[in-house]
Amino acid sequence: MSRGDYAPHDAGPRPGVAYLVGAGPGDRGLMTARALELIAGADAILYDRLIPAGALDGAREDAELIYVGKAPGRVAMEQEETERRMVEIAREGRSVVRLKGGDPFVFGRGGEEAETLEAAGVPFEVVPGVTAGIAASAYAGIPVTHRDDASAVAFVTGHEDPGKESSAIDWPALASFPGTLVLYMGVRNLPRISERLIASGRDPDEPAAAIQRGTWPDQRAVVATAATLPDAVAEAGLGAPAILLFGPVAARRERIGWLERRPLHGRRVVVTRARAQASSLAAVLTGLGAEVVELPAIRIEPRIDSAEVAAMVENIHSYALVCLTSPNGAELLMRALAERGLDARALAAATIAAIGPGTARRLRELGLIADIVPPRSIAESLVESLREVEVDGRPVLIARAAEARDVLPEALAERGAKVDVVPLYETVREPASEDEIEAIAGADYVTFTSSSTVRFFLETVGESFPARARVVSIGPVTSETARELGLDVAVEAEQHDPDGLVAALLADAAL
Ligand code: SAH
Repeated sequence: MSRGDYAPHDAGPRPGVAYLVGAGPGDRGLMTARALELIAGADAILYDRLIPAGALDGAREDAELIYVGKAPGRVAMEQEETERRMVEIAREGRSVVRLKGGDPFVFGRGGEEAETLEAAGVPFEVVPGVTAGIAASAYAGIPVTHRDDASAVAFVTGHEDPGKESSAIDWPALASFPGTLVLYMGVRNLPRISERLIASGRDPDEPAAAIQRGTWPDQRAVVATAATLPDAVAEAGLGAPAILLFGPVAARRERIGWLERRPLHGRRVVVTRARAQASSLAAVLTGLGAEVVELPAIRIEPRIDSAEVAAMVENIHSYALVCLTSPNGAELLMRALAERGLDARALAAATIAAIGPGTARRLRELGLIADIVPPRSIAESLVESLREVEVDGRPVLIARAAEARDVLPEALAERGAKVDVVPLYETVREPASEDEIEAIAGADYVTFTSSSTVRFFLETVGESFPARARVVSIGPVTSETARELGLDVAVEAEQHDPDGLVAALLADAAL
C-alpha cells in the first residue's frame, strides 16, 4: 500500500488531544487503520468492554490502559468519572484515546463526551468505527438496504421498555417506516418490541432477524418473522449483545449468508508455533473461518554471540556450500554476519541450499537466492538434492538450531565434506498462563510445525490436551515425535511447510 502525497494522518496522536475512537463490532480486522495508528501511539487509553480481542495489542509498553467498561459484577467507572479522567489526562499534556465498541457516535455516548471535551477546552478528534448494526447484519448475510426491498434503514434503541407510559420512541412511526429497522440493546425487550411494532401496524409476517455477537468467532443468528422472532430467539437462547432487524432483507440471509460457508467455520484450531511465526499461520486459518487459539509452545533464543559463531563468520568466505534448515537459521546467519560488518556478499562464492520454500523465501527477503531447494522439506530430501554438489574435501556450513537431527551433517561427512555444524539458536519452551491453557479446551485441531512444538506443547498443557482434537502434523519427523509421545496423528501435510499444513487441514475438515 502506498500512501498518497496528502496524508494528514501520517502522525500518531498529538499531546494534549483526546480521540474518540470506534473499535468496530468485534472482529479485529474491522478496526480502522486510523484506530490502530492512534492506539499504537497513545499515552493513555480508556477502553470499553465490547472492544475486539487484542485491540490493545499494539499499544505502547508504557501506555496507561484504563478499563472503564461496565461488566456484570465488576465495579467500573461511571460516565462522569470517565469523562473527568479524559479531560485530566489531556490537560496533563498527554494524548488520550477513548476506545469504544462499534462507532462512538452510534449509541455510544460519544456525543456527550465530545461536548464535555469542548466545554473543558480540550481539543479532540472523532474516529468513526464500523457500527454493529451494519457489521453484524453483513456478517449474517443481511444487506441492510437492497434495491428491491429496502431503500432506507433506521437505527433504533431498543433499550427503552416499550411498555413505558411516556415512550421517547414513536412506535407507530417506526412501524410505518419504509425500510429496515435495526434495533440496538433490544434483545431483552424483544417480546414487547415485537408486540408493539405489530400492534402499531408492522406486518407480523415480515422477515426479522436477531444476531448475537456479530463478527465475533461465536456469532449466532436466527431468522424468523416479526411475530415469531421472540420465540425463535428464546429457543436458540440468544442474548446480549445482539442486534434485532425487521425488514424483508432479513430473508436474504438464506442465500447471502456467507460466514458459515467458510471452509473452517466453527472449528477451533490451536497454533503452537513460536509467537514470532505463529501469526501468519493464525491469520491464514482465521481467514478461512477458523477460531484460532494461539498457544506458542516454543520460543527462539538466538545464540549468535558464541565463539563458534564468531569462528564461522571469520571463515565465511571459505565455505563451498552453506545449508540453511529453517527461516530462523537464515535470518540469524545474516544477523550474525551483519553484526560483524558483513553482508550477503560474504556468501558470494558459496552454493546455498535451503531445506524448503519457507527458508528459501526468507533468504530471498534477505537478498539471497537459494541454489538448491529439495522437493520435500526434510533432511533426507535435501541430502538427495545435494548429490550434484561437489563437496569432497571442501568446507561446508550447516547453520541451524542447537538441537537437530544429524542426517544432513552425517551424509555430507560421508561424502568427504569438512562439515561445520554451527548452532545459531536454541528452541526453548514458552510457558503459558492458566487462561491460555483453558482456551484450548474443546479444540477441533491442534497443529504442530516441528518436533519441538510437540514436545514442549505436551509439557506445557499436560492433562489439558483437548481430548477430541485431531492432531495435524507438518511432516513425517514431527508425526513420529507426536506418536512417540502418545498422540494419534490424524493429518500429515504432504507438503512440509505451513501452506501444506493448511491444505491438509482443509482437506480433513471437508471430509
Ligand atoms: N457504539 C456501538 C453500540 C453500543 S450500544 C456501535 O456502534 O456498534 C451496545 C449495543 O450494540 C448492544 O446492546 C448490541 O445491541 C449492539 N452490539 C454491539 N456489538 C455487537 C455485536 N458484535 N453484535 C451484535 N450487536 C452488537
